Amino acid sequence: MKHELPKLSYKYDALEPYIDAKTMEIHHIKHHQTYIDKLNDAIHKPEGMKFHDMQVDELLKNINSIPESIKPAIRNHGGGHANHSLFWQLMTPNVKDREAKGKVVEAIKKQFNSLEDFKKQFSDAATNRFGSGWAWLVLNNKKLEIISTSNQDSPLMENKIPLLGLDVWEHAYYLKYQNKRADYIAAWWNVVNWKKFNELYEKAI
Ligand code: MN
Repeated sequence: MKHELPKLSYKYDALEPYIDAKTMEIHHIKHHQTYIDKLNDAIHKPEGMKFHDMQVDELLKNINSIPESIKPAIRNHGGGHANHSLFWQLMTPNVKDREAKGKVVEAIKKQFNSLEDFKKQFSDAATNRFGSGWAWLVLNNKKLEIISTSNQDSPLMENKIPLLGLDVWEHAYYLKYQNKRADYIAAWWNVVNWKKFNELYEKAI
């Protein structure tokens, strides 16, 4: 099969003023597309044919059984494809879906004391990730956990289920926020799709 760029369910300017249209456009049709092209290249090599029909999440969960010659490509570009596919869905212009509610909120309060404490810890993980990478809330053995990964590493490679992910590569924010990653992170909370986040949680538990 050929992996394809998923369509966004909103327009590039729909997350303004928090995430600007130009960043969204380049991030989607240039960066994400490039991960997909390079992933397709890897699985169309002879040693990739065995993995040709696997969904990207399955490729990442099985990263340790991928031949060494294509493993870095699957890890980086498969990870990039999976991470971004999730990231787009975890943001929304829909004001109702931006309300923090549902079972995931109850679970977060239980685990992190309060929503504000959770946001603070998650934001710290995103701020402190050195270089390029992601901050995540994952389900690890049925327990909520905040982690960060470098480059395009996916939590799926460690058997963790991603529920919320924030891209802190400079390409995600530099046009609007330049070096002010913390401002981007603070703005991003305004567009989080809590409805989708809650759905992922309910499906995972
Ligand atoms: Mn990105």
